[in-house]
Amino acid sequence: MHSDHLPLARASVDRDGHARVRPGLLDDLLAEPSTRVLTIDGDRVATAGSDDAALAFVPPSDRVPGAGLLYLGRDEDAAYLAQVLGAGPRPAAGDLDRRTDDPQGSTVSPPPSYAVLRDIGWQLGDRDAGLAVGALALANWHRTHTHCPRCGTPTEVIDGGWVRRCPADESLHYPRTDAAVIMAISDEAGRILLGHAPQWPEGQFSVPAGFVEPGESLEAAVRREVFEETNVVVGEVTYRASQPWPFPASLMVGFAGRATGTDVRPDGEEITEARFYSADELREAWTTGAIRLPRPTSIARSLIEEWYGEPLPEARAGRRWA
Ligand SMILES: [Zn+2]
Repeated sequence: MHSDHLPLARASVDRDGHARVRPGLLDDLLAEPSTRVLTIDGDRVATAGSDDAALAFVPPSDRVPGAGLLYLGRDEDAAYLAQVLGAGPRPAAGDLDRRTDDPQGSTVSPPPSYAVLRDIGWQLGDRDAGLAVGALALANWHRTHTHCPRCGTPTEVIDGGWVRRCPADESLHYPRTDAAVIMAISDEAGRILLGHAPQWPEGQFSVPAGFVEPGESLEAAVRREVFEETNVVVGEVTYRASQPWPFPASLMVGFAGRATGTDVRPDGEEITEARFYSADELREAWTTGAIRLPRPTSIARSLIEEWYGEPLPEARAGRRWA
């Protein structure tokens, strides 16, 4: 298991971080006919065609007037921007020439469709996966970090969308990422620990996961979360891979761990059912539709399949993933 192969950890576009501070960057990029603009609407991304296997881009001339712009980077073909509909980030004065805006919106060609990244991420190519993840993560941050945490003044967006600056005290604020651990815990017999959370659909099971607390190592977070949720004590912990999970701002850090006991007792709040499954038991429960497992975009699914030793067989129609 390697991060380069996880659905949402893939990328092929150069983030071009040095260019973000260039004066007039967004204007320059909008003046390049080859620039491609990805549209973000809430937690959805614009997709091309009916199979949702590729993102849809528009040229700068077709962008939505007034939408917040984020610079995502470039490859040998083009530079890539994201436009954030609704309450997207507004560029600081001077960062974008407002005269290019079309107040009538008459030139806008709406993209053909939108999709939720957690549903389609595993179907996208490397370039599109990386662009969509970066754009969503950044857009989510802007949505909830509009004011200075020091003095409450509304902040302005600079550096192609990668920094917010407070005009009152000149403090700079950077996008945040919340670390979360997720772990395939197996017992001495090689069985995997899966649990069900009450807010999930009936029959949905997954590996334990939780946020890292301040002042805590990743390994300590693995052991604490598993014990809190299931009463299972974890010994050895091994890093496996990570992938961003921008719903809204997580980095999922994946581990394998060895349980030192099998006394499973769900905490009844975060986890209401939990048990160890052998490979045979899991295949049976999955293929007959007795349980649902995490969708292919998730690192949870990859951790389960790594433990299983191969991709899971097709499940009963209609319950393939939840
Ligand atoms: Zn301030």
